Amino acid sequence: MACPPTSDPRARYLRWISDRPRQVVLQPTTFCNLDCSYCYLPGRAVKNAMPVEVAAAVARSVTELTDASGPPVRIIWHAGEPLTLGRVRFAELLAPFESLRAEGRVQHAVQTNATLIDDRWCDLLAVHGVRVGVSVDGPRVLNARRVDRAGRAAFDRILRGIGALREYGLPFSVISVVSRESLHAPEALLDHLTALGCRSIGLNIEEYEGVNTGRAVPDLGDAVDFWARVLTWSHHRPDAPPVRELDRLGSYLRMTRDGTRPQWEDARHDPIPTVTANGDVVLLSPELADTRTSAYDDFRAGNILRQPLAAILADAHRLRYVTEFLTGLDNCRTSCDFFDFCRGSQAGNRYFEHGTFTATETAYCRSTEQALVIAAADTTRKDTTA
Ligand code: SF4
Repeated sequence: MACPPTSDPRARYLRWISDRPRQVVLQPTTFCNLDCSYCYLPGRAVKNAMPVEVAAAVARSVTELTDASGPPVRIIWHAGEPLTLGRVRFAELLAPFESLRAEGRVQHAVQTNATLIDDRWCDLLAVHGVRVGVSVDGPRVLNARRVDRAGRAAFDRILRGIGALREYGLPFSVISVVSRESLHAPEALLDHLTALGCRSIGLNIEEYEGVNTGRAVPDLGDAVDFWARVLTWSHHRPDAPPVRELDRLGSYLRMTRDGTRPQWEDARHDPIPTVTANGDVVLLSPELADTRTSAYDDFRAGNILRQPLAAILADAHRLRYVTEFLTGLDNCRTSCDFFDFCRGSQAGNRYFEHGTFTATETAYCRSTEQALVIAAADTTRKDTTA
């Protein structure tokens, strides 16, 4: 980043973080009807529900932060299983956003395990223009850790929900957690996800987050091999849905080639305000919501019922974890060869792996940012020397 160092805390914040969010995550409940073995949510057994007042306060805040000429803010319903609220409550939470949606100022999205989706849910999601993301980890054998509280596999219920989406004609994307097992079977994973009829694929290599700290994460060599195989698969399947991570790398390479890379380098991190069911707001990583630690005051930047989002964001540079993250980004910029592409990656991974945001390298950035670049460079080298 070209800007010189500054001692003004607000200017330093704005050098790295956008003052306007492009997305706001709403956690309408922490409860989930599944109990996946890698889940990071500490409150997934707690039945709670966001009051309509919280959604209305978010809608008022978004009204202040946007105008009809700018791009829509993505309202992402996530972090728990939003559909466990039931259609009536979910519709009540969507209602305060309706006029904003009609003006093109918000775009809803929901991340769901799909197990509860039926025709009536499709009706509701279609009426409100909600983009659907389904969490599914591949074919039955690779999906085995997605289970309910009785330990029963959720696979058939997920497929039933996806079937309902397809029958209704509602497009959906998928996000898969890549386990140690699927890391060695990317083709089977991608073939299966493609056959589901999704419009795009996101691949999250399993990471340390929230309360999921138990399993070993992949080493760099395995991750490079995985991405190399994903690249090869994608090369041979031009008709297949785009893979989010490859798309991002492709954008970076295109911008490098056509001389617009400064735009990539100038792009600031989204503050990603995440609003919990009781209206608390945390910044930078949705995974920090409901994470208890006195060192960072539970990561609360404020509460939407007491302060609008604009006021919360105006004070964000005073939060200890936010300033530490800025230091972490500075550290990445001066120490890491992958920074040009990566731009410093995720805040939450730094905390969950190192207990601080000033840290640089994490297992997540090694397996997703670094490994992808190395795999692409190796693939290109092989292509040009063949
Ligand atoms: S790859 Fe890791 S260490 Fe390097 S810039 Fe990204 S987050 Fe920082």
